[in-house]
Amino acid sequence: MSPAGADRTEEGYGWKGPHPMTVRPPAVFVALALVVTACSTSGPSEGTATDDGLPFRRPPASQPAGTEPASGHEGFVLPPAPTLTDHALSDAPSYIFLFTHTEDPFNHELSEERYWRVGDLVEEVAAAHPDVGLVWTIEFQGSDAETVTQRNPETGLVDRLLALRDEGLVQFGYHAYHDPTYLNRPQNELRPDSSFDEVHDAMWTWITCRKDVTRGGCVEERGGGLEAISNPFGQVTIVTGLGVSLGFQVERSAGALAVRELVPDRMLAFGFPDHGDLAVDRTYTAARDALLALLTPTHETSSSTFWMDGSIRINDSAPLDDVNLSPLYDGPDALDAALDSLDGSRSFVLNQGIADKFLYTLETTSPTKWGYAHPDAPELPPEYRQPASERERRYRTTAETLRHLAERMDSSGGALRFVDAADVVGLFTSEDYWNVDDDELDQMAAWLLNNWTDTPPAWTYDGEDFYSLADTFALLAARAGGETADDIVSRIHGPWTVTRTTTAATSVAADDLTLAAQDGLISSSRISESYRVGSQELTATQLLYALAYLRLADRQGVDLRTVPIPATATGPETLELLNTLGCTDCLDTAWSLKPARFQD
Ligand SMILES: [Zn+2]
Repeated sequence: MSPAGADRTEEGYGWKGPHPMTVRPPAVFVALALVVTACSTSGPSEGTATDDGLPFRRPPASQPAGTEPASGHEGFVLPPAPTLTDHALSDAPSYIFLFTHTEDPFNHELSEERYWRVGDLVEEVAAAHPDVGLVWTIEFQGSDAETVTQRNPETGLVDRLLALRDEGLVQFGYHAYHDPTYLNRPQNELRPDSSFDEVHDAMWTWITCRKDVTRGGCVEERGGGLEAISNPFGQVTIVTGLGVSLGFQVERSAGALAVRELVPDRMLAFGFPDHGDLAVDRTYTAARDALLALLTPTHETSSSTFWMDGSIRINDSAPLDDVNLSPLYDGPDALDAALDSLDGSRSFVLNQGIADKFLYTLETTSPTKWGYAHPDAPELPPEYRQPASERERRYRTTAETLRHLAERMDSSGGALRFVDAADVVGLFTSEDYWNVDDDELDQMAAWLLNNWTDTPPAWTYDGEDFYSLADTFALLAARAGGETADDIVSRIHGPWTVTRTTTAATSVAADDLTLAAQDGLISSSRISESYRVGSQELTATQLLYALAYLRLADRQGVDLRTVPIPATATGPETLELLNTLGCTDCLDTAWSLKPARFQD
């Protein structure tokens, strides 16, 4: 049993809904609003702030939210936050994403043997178990894709992989992390305070330029990185291993937008640690786990997946739940032990690696580490390769374990199956998820304000789904400006960076706020760091608060003259955790975080 069981939801947000069923707008929302209006005479007097500096009084911590909201400013009554729904599950299915990170442009025969043998294996297992959805996603680095393409006239490997693709058995992705080289890449020139444009340009160069395979650096402006894969192989279904600095696997909005210019529908990536070199010490692990705890508030979420920078992130494991798949060459018993740890109380998407470089290299080095350190003779010396007998054993055990996995899936009654990138996106999104209606936005605004202490909450909730602060800002800004903002969820990025500060309590004229919204608060896919509203300069964080407040007043028919804004930190709790993980001042990424909820 995991430490991520039912009691995890009782931390962080302090309470859990008393009812197993979701309270849905609009009927209940209206009813509660009427109830709290009737109670409002017991609140603080009009126009005065409460003891904690907030313009309304939040319910006592010992009481479930929603039972005793009170009035605040100009007679405005804050509706209660929606009740956080947490079903106790008993037979939640799980899903396996079978992938390879290729990571070797130097040892051609040894590396390419993987595609031939595992390709045959995947074909065999898929034919024996047609109902388990077997798909193998090969995530090349650019230099690997280039190498196999150059060799195709003599090997025919690209033709073989394209044939497997056409059979529906193979898809392609991009794993950027090991592209040449670790020490010569544009991100290395970035500083923690680099501008959005500087980071964007570095990431764009990284994913598009053709590189010197041993020494790094661009040799041609285009055709490398991601393009070296999409040119011969077509659709790129997942992009992983992008980091704004070495050993640090957060791409931030600048990287995410650079990828989206090449792959507009890119929705999937890996999370922590995303297969980069990381000093995974206790500090890192504690911060990662604290972050994941904030992002797994209910049994419909799990620590294997979350949303960040506009993509669904699959972690290497589900660290809060002690679920961790090992390489297939560890054998069927190791696989069984991992799968037996799934207790059905949550669904998981699990990364299962196959055909990695350690089939034929020792774990003490790697082809890219060796090759970049020895550019004149980049092939691995024999002493760093697995002995032939061990290589054969690893291939044999990989085959046995994959067959065993497929058999287990076949007899699982649908509790376990393979997924490809599109399947994963489908698990976490739906028509209702993408389209936030007016009542759902009211719930998000109520969630935001009720859970705003001296910092914004980490995410918002509409009674069913979770949304990021960037989503919430964009939706509130658009609706206040009279737009519907369809298709904005997960497509909008938060303010690039600000110095972490606490702004003092203030207020803003409601008319100025409405005018600013009508002028348009979002001109691109990015939220600005600050905005001029009337004669005032507000941070995006202050504006987020004010927009939510104004909306809820408007929806109750309360005509506010001014909108109060409490003293507040610029970023949510997650900002500090990202900082501990190595992302300095990543307000944009903090604003992008949200739980990934398995849709019904
Ligand atoms: Zn890697």
